[in-house]
Amino acid sequence: MEEKIKRFLEIMDESERIVFFGGAGVSTESGIPDFRSKDGLYNQHDVQFDSYSPEYLLSHSCLVREPEVFFEFYRQKMDTRGIEPNITHKVLAELEDMGKLTAIVTQNIDGLHQKAGSRKVYEIHGTTQHNYCSKCRRDMGKDAIFNSTGIPTCPHCGGMIRPYVTLYEEGLPEDAVAGAISAIRQADCLIVAGTSLNVYPAASYIYEFHGKHIVVLNLDPVGVSLNPDSDLFIQGKMGTVFTRLSEHLRHIL
Ligand code: NAD
Repeated sequence: MEEKIKRFLEIMDESERIVFFGGAGVSTESGIPDFRSKDGLYNQHDVQFDSYSPEYLLSHSCLVREPEVFFEFYRQKMDTRGIEPNITHKVLAELEDMGKLTAIVTQNIDGLHQKAGSRKVYEIHGTTQHNYCSKCRRDMGKDAIFNSTGIPTCPHCGGMIRPYVTLYEEGLPEDAVAGAISAIRQADCLIVAGTSLNVYPAASYIYEFHGKHIVVLNLDPVGVSLNPDSDLFIQGKMGTVFTRLSEHLRHIL
């Protein structure tokens, strides 16, 4: 592990256009469960929702067929407004300020990168921090669902308010995807972290990378083929690695 962290710090030093491609594992150390780990949302049992699959509860079908169930689950599990960024979010914001990191491409919907100060963030699965009316498309602010009960409706047209989150069965936001792919293509280093790479098409975007180094950082093994001469897989906690990077940045500045 120590040798790998040292190599990671060397790669960070020599890279000038780093892109960070992250998933739910980036926010577990802030207290938000991921989906597929043993303590993840998919392995938690809740009698209220046990007869539904997690994919269904977060699907377009559930939103339109059983909106009461959708919004109940969404309010209970997706409200991360009181949660704070962790060391990984903060160091990434610092790397952007230093001009070394060009973009974050995130599958997360919790808004924690922006809360930590990051500016160039492509949220390819949308965000819980915005809602809109599915009928008149007006912006409904970030609290419209969490601060309501039942099926939230638009005060202007009576349409159903929905989150700006990409649900299963829905297409990804085109602007965010275009920005993400362009940033990955121009990067010289891609960090792939805290993601099982099980959700498509998001996972396929890492194959747009043709730069020098891929660093994979994850608790569980991930199915990415790496070049042993230039790439790196660190199996461990992101907080441990980013704490070391934070200390390293203090030391070289
Ligand atoms: P996933 O649950 O499939 O995989 C998360 C991965 O992160 C796992 O392989 C796990 O080993 C790793 N991990 C967990 N904690 C870690 C840590 N501290 N350090 C290093 N690795 C760690 O998540 P995914 O691949 O992002 O796919 C799930 C989908 O669900 C995504 O589309 C995402 O949008 C969404 N999701 C978002 C949030 C959030 O916004 N915080 C939370 C859960 C799920």
